[in-house]
Amino acid sequence: MKLNMSPEEFRHWGHRIVDWIAHYLEHIRDYPVLAQVEPGELASRLPAAAPEEGEPMEAIFEDFERRILPAVTHWNHPRFHAYFSVSASPPGILAEALIAALNMNGMLWKTSPASTELEQVTLDWLRQWLGLPDRFFGVIHDTASLNAVHAIAAARFRADPEVRRRGQTLPLTLYTSELAHSSIEKGAMVLGIGLDNVRKIGVDEAGRMRVDLLEEAVRRDLAERRTPFCVCATVGTTGITSIDPVAEIASVAERYGLWLHVDAAYGGAAAVAEELRWVLAGAEHADSLVVNPHKWLFTPLDLSVLYTAHPDLLRRTFSVVPEYLRTAEDSRVVNLMDYGVPLGRRFRALKLWFIMRYFGRRAVAEIIRRHIGWAQEFAGWIAADPRFELAAPAPLSVVCFRLKSDDEDNRRLLEAVNATGRAYLSHTVLKGRYVIRFAVGHIATTEEDVRSTWQTVSEAADRLGG
Ligand SMILES: *Cc1c(COP(=O)(O)O)cnc(C)c1O
Repeated sequence: MKLNMSPEEFRHWGHRIVDWIAHYLEHIRDYPVLAQVEPGELASRLPAAAPEEGEPMEAIFEDFERRILPAVTHWNHPRFHAYFSVSASPPGILAEALIAALNMNGMLWKTSPASTELEQVTLDWLRQWLGLPDRFFGVIHDTASLNAVHAIAAARFRADPEVRRRGQTLPLTLYTSELAHSSIEKGAMVLGIGLDNVRKIGVDEAGRMRVDLLEEAVRRDLAERRTPFCVCATVGTTGITSIDPVAEIASVAERYGLWLHVDAAYGGAAAVAEELRWVLAGAEHADSLVVNPHKWLFTPLDLSVLYTAHPDLLRRTFSVVPEYLRTAEDSRVVNLMDYGVPLGRRFRALKLWFIMRYFGRRAVAEIIRRHIGWAQEFAGWIAADPRFELAAPAPLSVVCFRLKSDDEDNRRLLEAVNATGRAYLSHTVLKGRYVIRFAVGHIATTEEDVRSTWQTVSEAADRLGG
């Protein structure tokens, strides 16, 4: 019986696993990007119950390579161009190991002074990189989806402070565009605001929220005695990366007393490059803003940042302190458990701190700039090829395109590309039509990868046509 792992064994496997990771990252292009397995295939090859007696690491690791790995879709592959292309950069991977080793729980300052203080310092650095105002206070949670819940809950608490004790007392309505991420609706749903009270505002030709329609909707709700309380603008919509006119939305928000939440989960990162700062124009008026370093800032999943101009309101929305969590320092410190739903919180700031220090702002800006440049190049090839058409403007590093043919052909093209294992792209539906999405965002992607993906797409289209 092993009652723990010995330091010698830990060291041996630590070295083997680091070697494995280094080899994996170096040769990752040898793997098919998309797992080529059928549903249930892996599960059927695993024992139905856990072992009664411990097993040797050798056996566990062998099964990882032989059974688990073939069912892995390689998100860390430089030709993962589906959804948003994200990356766990090497310094982030190393920091993750340290985070696990320390296993700190950042619920209170006292339980984790390093975690609490590093989180605040690192998020202030990131705030500066993004050009956001210095009154913005940041907190890390797992995902933009949970941070949307936090933002909408704070907005509701401001509009209806009775909510803490009595539950919601006002007929609240929330506004976002029809291209907003589903997490906004999900947030409104789980908070009990109700999907019927979410107004999905129409967009212009470029996919940006129409401010005239927003104001009309707010006025209609006021006339019908409802209480508009929150508007969520998006910087980089998930489908087509369109950028809502945040400054104009902010003035509507101000006029009608709405909380302005800016969802910049993906697009916000672009503001690290000086010439792209415009993507966050108007965000200085936000009451809250989300940016996901785990999307386009080379940080391993998961790390999402919520900034707010009203930390005190956020705290009053969520703070419930049972006796066992009271500490002598409470009046002098920030206890991050007070700023959201979870009590326990991982030491996520450490990986962002490693990454920001290792690369520095100039390199991060340069990588983002290249991604956008290559996406623009790809868009140029699509536009110049008579078989294809662009389906939406491509302001950042995502290109939406389609064959000039029916939805079925486009679906077959996407499947054919993904079945090669050489690249992985995804799709969306725009104006009722099936559209293929090509996203660039991985730290190790090269211009050669982008060319090779275009070639894969082009050859698959040839085969379909023939
Ligand atoms: C990806 C994305 C989200 C959701 O992010 P999670 O961190 O996975 O919850 C929300 N909003 C936008 C605009 C996104 O692109």
